Parts: sequence; C-alpha cells; structure tokens
Amino acid sequence: MSQSTAVPGAEVQVPTIPVREIAPWALFFGLLGLLTLFFISADQGAISIPSGNAIHEWVHDGRHLLGYPCH
Ligand SMILES: [Zn+2]
Repeated sequence: MSQSTAVPGAEVQVPTIPVREIAPWALFFGLLGLLTLFFISADQGAISIPSGNAIHEWVHDGRHLLGYPCH
C-alpha cells in the first residue's frame, strides 16, 4: 500500500516567471529551431553553409520523416 504525502488543505505555489526573463531564452531557442529547420529542410548541398552535401546525408531520414521533398 502506498501512503499519500498530500496534505489536505495545503496549497501549491506555482512560480510566476516574468516575460522579460523568458524572452531572451525564447529568442535563443527560436533561432536554434530555425537553424535546425534550415539544416533539415533547405540544406541541399547547393544552398549550404558548409559546402558539400554531408549535412543533407546526416539529416536524410529526418527529411523523409517530416515530408520534405528529397528525391
Ligand atoms: Zn531522400
């Protein structure tokens, strides 16, 4: 038998985080997401930050999983 640790009548305090503290992190992860999306979707070798198609080959299964046209 498990014993409940909840105390009847106790309130849970949910911390509030100001938007000013979250905004830089949201921007950072947003840009990181866009960069990831670029490497998965747009990096074809012809439009590529590093030359060659090594990144295209690394994310090839991800391209097909997300439905991007490939070959
Ligand atoms: Zn493919």
